[in-house]
Amino acid sequence: MEPRGWLPLLLQLGLMWPPWAQPEPQLRVFVVPHSHMDVGWLHTVQENMQAYVTNVYNSVVEALTLEKKRRFIAVEQEYFRLWWDGVASHWQKRKVHQLVAKGRLEFVLGGQVMHDEAVTHIDDQILQLTEGHGFLYETFGVRPQISWQVDPFGASSTTPTLFALAGFNAHVISRIDYDLKEAMQDNRQLQFVWRGSRSLSAEQEIFTHVLDQFSYSKVPRYEGFNWDGEAIFPGPSLDGKYPSMEIPVTEDSIPDFTHLLGKRVLHKASWFQTAHILWPWGCDRQFFNASLQFANMDIVMDYINSEASEFGFSVEYATLGDYFRAVHSDQVAWQVRDHRDFLPYSSDMHHAWTGFYASRSGLKALARRASSLLYAGESMFTRYVLLAPHPYLDPAWGLQQLQQLRWAVSEVQHHDAITGTHVPNVGDMFVEHLSTGMQGVHKLMASIIQDRSPAHSGKRGPEPGGHFAVVYNPLAWTVTTIITLTVDFPKVSITDESGLPVPAQAQRSKDMPSAYDLHVLTTIPGLSYRHYSIRPSRSSQEETGEPEPFVAKTTQFGGRLRRYGGQVGGSLVPVKNGCYIVFMDLDTNLMHSVWERQSNRKVYMTQQFMEYHANSDVWQGPISDNYVFTPSGTAEPAWEAVRMEIVEGPLVTEIRQYFYRLPTFTIYSRLARGPQGSDGALLCHHIEQEYQVGPLELNREAILRTSTSLNTGRVLYSDNNGYQMQRRPYRNYKNNTIARNYYPMVQSAFIQDRRSRLVLLSNQAHGVSSQRNGQVEVMLHRRLWNNDKWALNNDLTLNDSSVVHPVLWLLLGSRTLTSDLHQRSGLALQHQPVVMLREMNGEIAPRGSGSRQQEAVTLPPSVHLQILSIPGWKYSSNHTEHLQTLQKGHEAKADLRRVLLRLQHLYEVDQDPVLSRPVTVNLQSVLRGLGSVVSVEERSLTGTWDVSEMRRWTWSMRDPHGHRGSGTLPSPPPRGPEVTIYPKEIRTFFIHFQE
Ligand SMILES: [Zn+2]
Repeated sequence: MEPRGWLPLLLQLGLMWPPWAQPEPQLRVFVVPHSHMDVGWLHTVQENMQAYVTNVYNSVVEALTLEKKRRFIAVEQEYFRLWWDGVASHWQKRKVHQLVAKGRLEFVLGGQVMHDEAVTHIDDQILQLTEGHGFLYETFGVRPQISWQVDPFGASSTTPTLFALAGFNAHVISRIDYDLKEAMQDNRQLQFVWRGSRSLSAEQEIFTHVLDQFSYSKVPRYEGFNWDGEAIFPGPSLDGKYPSMEIPVTEDSIPDFTHLLGKRVLHKASWFQTAHILWPWGCDRQFFNASLQFANMDIVMDYINSEASEFGFSVEYATLGDYFRAVHSDQVAWQVRDHRDFLPYSSDMHHAWTGFYASRSGLKALARRASSLLYAGESMFTRYVLLAPHPYLDPAWGLQQLQQLRWAVSEVQHHDAITGTHVPNVGDMFVEHLSTGMQGVHKLMASIIQDRSPAHSGKRGPEPGGHFAVVYNPLAWTVTTIITLTVDFPKVSITDESGLPVPAQAQRSKDMPSAYDLHVLTTIPGLSYRHYSIRPSRSSQEETGEPEPFVAKTTQFGGRLRRYGGQVGGSLVPVKNGCYIVFMDLDTNLMHSVWERQSNRKVYMTQQFMEYHANSDVWQGPISDNYVFTPSGTAEPAWEAVRMEIVEGPLVTEIRQYFYRLPTFTIYSRLARGPQGSDGALLCHHIEQEYQVGPLELNREAILRTSTSLNTGRVLYSDNNGYQMQRRPYRNYKNNTIARNYYPMVQSAFIQDRRSRLVLLSNQAHGVSSQRNGQVEVMLHRRLWNNDKWALNNDLTLNDSSVVHPVLWLLLGSRTLTSDLHQRSGLALQHQPVVMLREMNGEIAPRGSGSRQQEAVTLPPSVHLQILSIPGWKYSSNHTEHLQTLQKGHEAKADLRRVLLRLQHLYEVDQDPVLSRPVTVNLQSVLRGLGSVVSVEERSLTGTWDVSEMRRWTWSMRDPHGHRGSGTLPSPPPRGPEVTIYPKEIRTFFIHFQE
């Protein structure tokens, strides 16, 4: 084939060139070498390290050292750090320093992993970025400035905001709806300025590049320019032979390569507005033999460049930074995109990637529990170990426990981890890392408490046995809530640190028939803990005079068969607290309605478990799997009869609904009674529901469907990463309409009509949808198996036979009330007090210890303490000073006095008349309980920039003033301890306290 047969086409392309780009420019092709290295997907981290990751860095460093023009981008920091700390030689480290300094090896994204954007929480995204960025800055003095989110399944609009706050200049995404991408290509709209938040100012917008249809790689042989073939994993090859490589570049084969490259360039050029073409060169697990890759590509590129004028383009190795600097210099007026996200994602007409919102539900729950525990451990360590040192605990050991969990929580944010799209043994690895990390932090927290307030031995208490409970509130607000302790005796006396009795309620445990659940009402100030002593009381109440917890009373209601019509609502049982009356229907044993007292409105509401059935034979039609959701039809009830129990007590009334079939699914609904007034508002204003779902039958996808009398027009709202809400109107599609109307719910979703809103809050990710007017359904669990050969060969099936126990909080009320409570309730659910229980061995409780000596840390209600931690980084926060230290080759010591503080305004600009206002916080007085603040430095999101020195690129826009959020300028860095936080702002500080 003639090598330059496509040239006439390029001339035609010149005619298509947009008028503002005259005269026809010479195309410049930026070949960006990269390797996509999933942190666990088909193989564990260790297996990947062994099979190719180590060789990627070994051979890339060598190949780059040999030829000046070569470039490489490094993405996943978990791998890079494992290589750096465990493999790299002194020589390699020196070379890497040089390559990084010259901009030939560029770190992009810089997180520990390439995080998923649909089912991850914003706090965890920030954590994993902070972990990676801290290491890079500490080691090289560099700060990543371009993102590379090229494989996550859909793109959230939280991400552009985060990356802007981290100091990035450009953001790269790829997986968006196929039909949208096609339209954007045709209209040359793959590049735009994205304003991810409707409340934040223009400062938080970011230039965004959507990779074209070739994405970050092209897999079929002979098109990927991958001469190093396929990585070989331990164990026998599946097809009995090694995968073949592409043919080497020789005099004979070069025309084929240059022709192909030219054709690709031609396509790409027609989709973009500038003459600068980004060509990601690499794929999954490539560049483990980088010399071979580069040696072949060098020939192709040299050949083209020697006849560039004839080809009509030149080609060069580049980093992403090189490419975006060129685009930035183009002076194009870019389109602006508002805060809408790119979720859900369909890769084609038949594949809606909405299944993974609920795949491996158990792992999703564990990941968030680990994250919450880490959050609590961080602030407790900061407050009680480093700022108030005590004799028994080694801070270095404590930091190690936290670091282990930081790493595990970061890892599981990977786009094949928390998504549930990995093979089972990789899932086991995630679970093991999380569990080990959690054990360490539990141990740390228990040691902190024990060492600070050792119980005195001495005079025995009234009875032997019993427990001490320490309950820590990790939020920076006073929290009133009910904690549940499991004890093995129903008659107990429970007292607080002052020896005073505490309101409590005992009932038989639903999990362990021989044990009792003890519900205890507690009020704990911000970042403080309280002590409780729980002792069995074998003598009667009259003798001791001590009040005992009320033992709850259980009423049973016989089974009711599922009805197809017939009478309902004839006989209702009310279950009340100060905010709601829930009516249960004795004709069905289902929920009938909820009366919300404050707005005096009754909303009809019923709930049931249902299942979507999935096809198991790929030859019979489309299938559901870890990634995609393709139900065979509409959902069907997953039960035949319901039995009910109501367990009533003074603090909590629990409704237990058992949905019968095999297996049995259960809903435990709880209404709590606490103090009146603002203290008890969050406790009163929700119905807590815990579900028990599973094991599912094969090829079932289980949902909880809530049907209400709200006139919602099938409009659903669901969140992006717990940060902001998106409006999701129901849409009809040619194909896959049920699945394409599914969305991720990371922390919340709601439906509403003019008068009322029903909010669902969760502490783990699920799928959520509204398929009918007034309905909302949450996908809780999936179990799938089919005969897809690729999945079977790779063991990538979703045969998940576990039982899951997700929890939702239901908030019903006026829009005003629910807007007020939504964010704080979400946090209250996510960050419930941490209970540490230990056995009492003839000791007496330490009187007067605990919260009475602690000064509360209390932030205004619209400001959330996003993190309070001691990262232990080894760098000066003065950039010049840090670079000098690095140049001298000195290793700085970990700064254990530098406290990382991040504050987040929870409300959108127009969400609430009061809570949406900017808030001024005096850090000195808020943090008084921790010590005396001597300095406050404002930093970029991940801590690496002094914000007053951070200059991001500005981009010209077609409508520079349109769609602007609040119009507020970003807040200036603080001069003193007073900071003002505007709606949705996230601000990061280094705080130094007096020694
Ligand atoms: Zn990937």
